[in-house]
Order: sequence, then C-alpha cells, then structure tokens
Amino acid sequence: MPTHTASTHTARVLPLPRVALLPGDGIGHEVLAEGVRVLQLLAPDLELVSFDLGADRYLRDGTTLPDDVLEQLRTEFGAIFVGAFGDPRVPTSVHAKEILLGMRFRLDLYVNFRPIRLYHDRYGPLRGKGTEETNFVVFRENTEGMYTGIGGQFKRGTEDEIAIEQEVNTRKGVERILRAAFEWARANGKAKVCMSDKSNAMRHGHELWQRVFKLVAAEYPEIKASHLYVDVLAMRMVQAPESFEVVVTNNLFGDIITDLGAALAGGLGLAASANIHPGGVAMFEPVHGSAPDIAGQGIANPFAAILCTGMILDHLGRPALGRRVEDTIRRCLDQGQVTRELGGNLSTREAGDAVLNLLSH
Ligand code: ATP
Repeated sequence: MPTHTASTHTARVLPLPRVALLPGDGIGHEVLAEGVRVLQLLAPDLELVSFDLGADRYLRDGTTLPDDVLEQLRTEFGAIFVGAFGDPRVPTSVHAKEILLGMRFRLDLYVNFRPIRLYHDRYGPLRGKGTEETNFVVFRENTEGMYTGIGGQFKRGTEDEIAIEQEVNTRKGVERILRAAFEWARANGKAKVCMSDKSNAMRHGHELWQRVFKLVAAEYPEIKASHLYVDVLAMRMVQAPESFEVVVTNNLFGDIITDLGAALAGGLGLAASANIHPGGVAMFEPVHGSAPDIAGQGIANPFAAILCTGMILDHLGRPALGRRVEDTIRRCLDQGQVTRELGGNLSTREAGDAVLNLLSH
C-alpha cells in the first residue's frame, strides 16, 4: 500500500510520467537541482520539463503564471516539482503568491499533505520522543478557510478603521478533505484520524466541520475518529506526538500546526509537502522558502526537496522507489552526512552526492 502521498486513494489511471520543474527563486534552484539528480537516477524514463517562472522572469517581463502554462500543467503533467518562491527584489511577493496560490486554487489542489516523520532521533527536539513517537501525517485543507482573501477594510488609516477577514467553509470543501484523510488512513492501515478545529469559539464554520466529520467518520467504522480543539492539539503534539496517526484540519490551523510538526521532525531542511487533487496533477514542494539569506552560497539542505522526489515517485505509481528515497535520507542522517544547519559540514551538492552514492550502491 502507498505510504507517501495521499494521491493514490481513488482508483484511476496512473498520472502521466512527466514532471514539470519550477525551481523558482533563491535556494529553490539549488535544492531542486539535487532532487532532479535523484529522479534522473531512479526513474530515467521520466520526462522532466523546466519552466522559467519566478522573480527573474517577473522582473524581466511581468509574467507570473500564464493561463496557457497552467493549462499545460493540468493536462500534460503527472507532477509539478517546485523549489521555492520569494525574492527580496519583489517585496510584495506578488509573483510568489500568483504562482503558488494560483496553482493551489486554479488546479484545485485541495489536499495539503505533510508527513511529520522524524527520520533519526538525533534531530528531534523533544526529550524521549524519537522516530517511534514522531510519525504521523497532516491533511490540511488547501483551498478555502481563512486564505481566500475575502474581506475588506473600511475607514482605512483612520482611528475608526475596521478590517474584516472572512473564513470560508463549504460543505463540499470540508467533506472532501475529511474523506481524503479517512481514505488515506484506510489505504495505509492506520487506526486513528483526529480532526481539529475551534468549534467552541467559531460556532458557525467549525460546527459544520463537527457535523460533517461525524457523517464521514461513520463510513469508516474500523477507524477511530477523535476530535481536539486546535490549542489542545498543539499542546499534545509536543507532549505526546505518538498519540497521532492522521490529523485533519482547516487551512489556517493546518498551516500553523504543520510548521510545529516540521520542527518536531528535524526542521525546515527535512520537511516536504504535497498539494494534491486526487485523480489529477499534484504539486510537490519543500516546506521551506527561498531563504535569501543563504541563497547562492551552496549550503542549503537539499533533503526536503529530495524527500519530495520520493513523494513524486510514489504519486507516479512507483512506491518502492519512493521508499528507497526515504530510506536513503534516513541513512544519510544516521551517518551524519548532513549540511551545516543540521550540524554537518556538507555543501548542498555534497549532500546530494551522499544521497546518490547510497542510492547507487
Ligand atoms: P518564505 O517567506 O519564502 O517562507 P524565508 O526564506 O524567509 O521565506 P524560509 O526559507 O522558509 O524563510 O526559512 C527561514 C530560514 O531558515 C532561512 O532564512 C534559512 O536561514 C533557513 N533555511 C530554510 N530552508 C533551509 C534549507 N533548506 N537549508 C538550510 N537552511 C534553511
């Protein structure tokens, strides 16, 4: 059974063996290059096609994410592999928003799937919580909630100003993310799904989550369905990460708790994520940003990007290769073959070399 991404839970034809490469900005280029070497080694038949989108292109001709490129991504590719977007020369980050949010919303990538998996005890921050204890996945709703931009400002800049940010919860949107979580749990032999909201304080939208959760959970009687308010979830993730197998939550809470999760699993350099529309193209990206402070120095950790390649291979119907990627990262961490921010002395390229060496022997 697949263990990496949430993509395989509906019966369907395999996605096209073509991967769109969007290195983006800053360290995105450096880490993606290492991921590409892994894909070329493990799956030389995959067609990899690069797209010139990012801050340079935006500053050159104003392009962010053209309609025809989006259409191409939707119809001609099985996976999109993203480096990172963000550049100090574009202080508004308008290009990053249009490209990343554009893909998420316009390709309707409603599942944000993030494994919270500690690969080696040495890199975990919690005493007594090692690889056994820190191993669960989060399903974050990715297309609505607090991030639709619906709202407004009134009397801006005056003493009487009002700013309103609306949270959108649709029955369809809530149901499909909950179902994705349960389906993944079932397909991967998991016994528990925990839904998190703040229905004690947010009585309209989150009451909908409560109701739909009960309905969907009833269809999966073999899986224990539980609920935690998000503040309690944050506490439990630190005190007892072993309580969780699958967590499902909304866009805002998912954003926050998955960064907490990344910290529990060794930090940004090791956190990978997938943005999925089951049955359609999926987008894979390291959780970290473009890190302008270290860009161009060749010291960024490429492991999050390489872990993305494991998810991509799984998504493209090659789960054994996906597992090999994960195992190899685990071995590198075990051997201390890591970049500086994890206490090693390898450059980005050398860390990539370490992975390739282990994969080819
Ligand atoms: P954004 O706003 O795009 O999320 P950012 O670049 O300010 O971006 P991140 O890149 O997510 O923030 O990370 C914050 C810091 O963590 C970086 O400035 C960098 O020092 C460090 N960091 C992030 N990713 C890596 C990595 N892959 N390897 C080493 N250090 C990293």
